[in-house]
Amino acid sequence: MYDVKSMKADEFISHDEILETLKWADENKSDLALVDSIIAKAKLKKGLSHREASLLLACDDKERLEEIYRLAKEIKLDFYGNRIVMFAPLYLSNYCVNGCVYCPYHAKNKHIARKKLSQEDIVREVTALEDMGHKRLAIEAGEDPRNNPIEYILESIKTIYSINHVNGAIRRVNVNIAATTVENYHRLKEAGIGTYILFQETYHNESYLKLHPSGPKHDYAYHTEAMDRAMEGGIDDVGLGVLFGLELYRYELAGLLMHAEHLEAVHGVGPHTISVPRIKRADDINPDDFDNGIDDETFLKIIAVIRISVPYTGMIISTRESKSVRARALELGISQISGGSRTSVGGYAEEEEDDENSAQFDVSDNRSLDEVVRWLMELGHIPSFCTACYREGRTGDRFMSLCKSGNILNCCHPNALMTLKEYLMDYASPETKEIGEALIRKELENIPKENVRKITGERILKIENGERDFRF
Ligand code: SF4
Ligand code: SF4
Repeated sequence: MYDVKSMKADEFISHDEILETLKWADENKSDLALVDSIIAKAKLKKGLSHREASLLLACDDKERLEEIYRLAKEIKLDFYGNRIVMFAPLYLSNYCVNGCVYCPYHAKNKHIARKKLSQEDIVREVTALEDMGHKRLAIEAGEDPRNNPIEYILESIKTIYSINHVNGAIRRVNVNIAATTVENYHRLKEAGIGTYILFQETYHNESYLKLHPSGPKHDYAYHTEAMDRAMEGGIDDVGLGVLFGLELYRYELAGLLMHAEHLEAVHGVGPHTISVPRIKRADDINPDDFDNGIDDETFLKIIAVIRISVPYTGMIISTRESKSVRARALELGISQISGGSRTSVGGYAEEEEDDENSAQFDVSDNRSLDEVVRWLMELGHIPSFCTACYREGRTGDRFMSLCKSGNILNCCHPNALMTLKEYLMDYASPETKEIGEALIRKELENIPKENVRKITGERILKIENGERDFRF
């Protein structure tokens, strides 16, 4: 029985409701009047239900698809402007007791190099990340109560926040670790984490059990209900995601949006972010072994449909994707990307040739952060290192209400320019700096409120003279 407010995984992600949704979408996808009415609703920019979104995803009318892309671009610009928030993943440990068949860290992989960063290693890694210019990290660790207990994660977060190298500082640590207890979520909250991210991988219960044959992650309900426990533990920014390629993408989209609807219905706040990873080659993992791989066009359509269905939710894409796919995805709604990423444990500080030995997946975009920043600016985006909302306590429903009121735009744009200026002063190559300075001069003029424009201009001058860390 489907019940959006139920606290039971198989009721708020009801298999029957998904099947009925997909059947209804198939039966009605050629009803262009219905498709048009859903697109008209999406134009109100208040989102779509999982049924409505599923119908748009099923529709293959070219004209309507163009309209969906156009609207996704418009919503992206309305809610996020031309800013793209930058972050980097930091792998703490690849010890893992789970058996996920799509991940090379699965416990049965005996030949992959197992590594766990000591606190001294973390200092080296974070110093290297700060030297690149990063301010926002997503820490990643396998599930292993003996090697990676919660105390290790908490100590690592403390270490990360304590490192200030020259002008560098990590100002927001997002956490991507296994589903855990309310008490442990509470401890993570106390440690000052930003978003708690946990990918569902797949919402299809039966496939989930096959893809996770062993380890605590095998428990579908415990995994799927994790975000409710995280919110109960006081974490109000949570990040969802599925690993596209494991199951039918239309099933996953319906499940993902039902999960978002559930969080909103029960906790009054939807997901802070949605990530859209696709399965990739890595160590003993061959993506061709999975039947449900999606091509680039389908992938971009999914991104656009998510964008118009949950306009207030940030969307994240990683270096799993190539430069060209990332360029198109940015237009259609992505608001956060990683840059200069290493997907191995210790990958930032260690020698290049050791890097791939412990990698979770192969990176398709190998450019440095400086190159990614320059490329973004050349495409007309503003790379932003902003972490202001979290540090001003604008999380959860406070963030969402500000976002829904449209007022966030008065903070984001100037914050992006100020943090970009810091980046240009401290880390950029001369070429990137030149492009960036011109961009800041031009974009300053686009701040609508005169007093905000004036204060931003003054602060940018102060940054040039050595001061740091201004925010609205
Ligand atoms: S996906 Fe996560 S839980 Fe599964 S094997 Fe990899 S690191 Fe472990
Ligand atoms: S002001 Fe808030 S929403 Fe805007 S970019 Fe900064 S952290 Fe994100």
